[in-house]
Amino acid sequence: MKDQKPLVGVSQCLLGDAVRYDGQSKTNTIVMEKLSKIFNLVPVCPEVEAGLGIPRPPVQLTGSIENPKLIGRDDPSIDVTSIMQNYCNTKPAELNQLSGFIFKSRSPSCGLNSTPVYIDGHCATETSHGIFAKKLCETYPNLPVIEDNELENENLLDKFIRSTMTKHLN
Ligand code: SF4
Repeated sequence: MKDQKPLVGVSQCLLGDAVRYDGQSKTNTIVMEKLSKIFNLVPVCPEVEAGLGIPRPPVQLTGSIENPKLIGRDDPSIDVTSIMQNYCNTKPAELNQLSGFIFKSRSPSCGLNSTPVYIDGHCATETSHGIFAKKLCETYPNLPVIEDNELENENLLDKFIRSTMTKHLN
């Protein structure tokens, strides 16, 4: 088993798959050209897997930094908080073989430390966590993680690769 490449989860839109709310992807060349050669990448799109569809109304973290809801960006009557929470209550258990995870920054589902939260129509912070990313990190606190906006930082990328390799071998 250990002679295989580490299994590493990745926000699926970074792989060029058209899973975003607008039916587009967010292809990341470092993921596609470098990390795909050293890891076995496991695609995860929480919003599609939760059943929100493609395309879908864009949502944003709203109302509270500590315990935000997932509310429609353009239509505040849309509330998919419980749909995402239900998904997050079961999905992490399926990912117990992962040695790392690469998240899409700023996403209300996948952002690691970069997601905006809106309170009373204003951006209250831009350093919060997507609902799925937060749940996965709580479930596996020692899992090496990184988000796409950190991949071009060679130190952070090297640290992520080394940590993932170490976790894979232990
Ligand atoms: S950021 Fe996450 S939820 Fe949004 S499209 Fe990418 S994988 Fe799906």
